[in-house]
Amino acid sequence: MTNHIIDGKQIASQVTEKVKERVERLKDQGVTPGLAVVLVGNNPASQTYVNNKTKTCERLGMYSVMIELEENISEEALLAHVEALNNDNKIHGILVQLPLPKQIDEDRVIAAISPLKDVDGFHPESVGKMMIGQQTFLSCTPFGIMKLLEYSDVEIAGKHAVIIGRSNIVGKPMGQLLLQKDATVTYCHSKTKDLHTFTKQADILVVATGHAKMIDANFIKEGAVVIDVGINRDENNKLCGDVDFASAQEVASKITPVPGGVGPMTIAMLMENTCLAAENTLNN
Ligand code: NDP
Repeated sequence: MTNHIIDGKQIASQVTEKVKERVERLKDQGVTPGLAVVLVGNNPASQTYVNNKTKTCERLGMYSVMIELEENISEEALLAHVEALNNDNKIHGILVQLPLPKQIDEDRVIAAISPLKDVDGFHPESVGKMMIGQQTFLSCTPFGIMKLLEYSDVEIAGKHAVIIGRSNIVGKPMGQLLLQKDATVTYCHSKTKDLHTFTKQADILVVATGHAKMIDANFIKEGAVVIDVGINRDENNKLCGDVDFASAQEVASKITPVPGGVGPMTIAMLMENTCLAAENTLNN
């Protein structure tokens, strides 16, 4: 089997180059795209993600603000911050980094973000529009995976796509976007029996479970395209995916590594969504 590693870093840089050009055009028209990232508490993983997001904004010439709030902030106080950002003309995109502390209802916070600034694509209005194929902000990770497939010339129409995971931010929207491109889609989850009987049928296998290296070559059909969404630490504290890369690459025709696969695309799509939000203010 000729293996081919899908280079997410390289594809993400192609995507962000295009965003940079759009940012320049917007600036010529007097608009600097602005992203606000809200971080509650001091979860180290969240802090790393948030820093990467704001740094990428700066690199692309966009404006960014990071709002760091105490772990014990009340839901009302957080909602007041979101409302202020909704009304701030310099801010086109708002991202509240998840997970949020227990005292806060995540759904309520997500619903409070203006759909016009919902660059994470988590607001019920964005999700509803995505479901019926209307133009909207798409959830960044599945949106990024669609770009990875496009840039890697992976044919989707008529293929069997199997998604392991059904979270609102990855699994569910992933299946919908593949369905819109005419794949036949199967969702698997923790209650799925005989997981491998489904995964073995996949032409495109997307793994988003949060369990380090749980999918190895035994679960994969010869020649399948394997997309690994997971971000985990292995026994040596090294970053690894939900797929056992060494074993899976023996049978996959194309495969994403961790790190350097899906992760960089998630940030690139956030930049694209923020740029789109800023462009929308000129068009409305
Ligand atoms: P969630 O924990 O919200 O969802 C995990 C899903 O996997 C659930 O639907 C669960 O099923 C399913 N699952 C868990 N165990 C099994 C199993 N043994 N067999 C089959 N299905 C199983 O995670 P997320 O979707 O938020 O994230 C998934 C992974 O992707 C994580 O490692 C996360 O860190 C990573 N991630 C990476 C991003 C990136 O940019 N690269 C962005 C977002 C997430 P059930 O619904 O039945 O519980």
